[in-house]
Amino acid sequence: MELIFATHNNNKVKEVSKMLPSYLSMKSLRDINFLDEIEETGETFEENALLKAKTIADKTGKNIFADDSGLVIEALDGAPGVYSHRYAGTGEDKDNIAKALKELKDKTNRKAYFISIFCLILDNKEYFFEGRVNGTISTEILGENGFGYDPIFIPNGFSKSFAQMTAEEKNKISHRGKAVEKLNEFLIKLKTI
Ligand code: IMP
Repeated sequence: MELIFATHNNNKVKEVSKMLPSYLSMKSLRDINFLDEIEETGETFEENALLKAKTIADKTGKNIFADDSGLVIEALDGAPGVYSHRYAGTGEDKDNIAKALKELKDKTNRKAYFISIFCLILDNKEYFFEGRVNGTISTEILGENGFGYDPIFIPNGFSKSFAQMTAEEKNKISHRGKAVEKLNEFLIKLKTI
């Protein structure tokens, strides 16, 4: 089965390609030569995931999945949320991190969670899969692996940030890892029907 992952984010492509079963052939937008930006005009993760998947499904007529994800910080009333990528206005990870640390400077509540919603469009039907991971925001940058807010997110039960983990360690417990697990289970069930 071939599935197109509707994202321009190479970090997501790298993570997800390691988690899909071998009978699936995943193609990225770059692989199919789709270089246009997809505007994320939705107000929820679901809306944006659907928008990305549907844009590419309508253009190609193929089976697609897309992920919309972000960091939700309790003391900031859920910010950066759906605006995680554009939080500081530059689209640069280091600026987003600096802004989050600044906003949290005097806050004792450092609780946050990462969320990922996958939208799969298969034979013109839409399916959604959600993954979440709870944690806390560190007071400084920790580690160099991963992407986005990984250097300031410490998942519950661990004493290191996502950016101090290997890709395999992160995938096992991450929001995206959990969402892909549900997607995989769904696809396996389909295969056996
Ligand atoms: P989008 O899903 O493409 O709208 O972007 C999600 C944004 O949320 C990314 O650009 C990152 O800033 C952040 N994000 C989502 N998942 C992760 C993750 O696994 N680690 C760190 N940051 C993430």
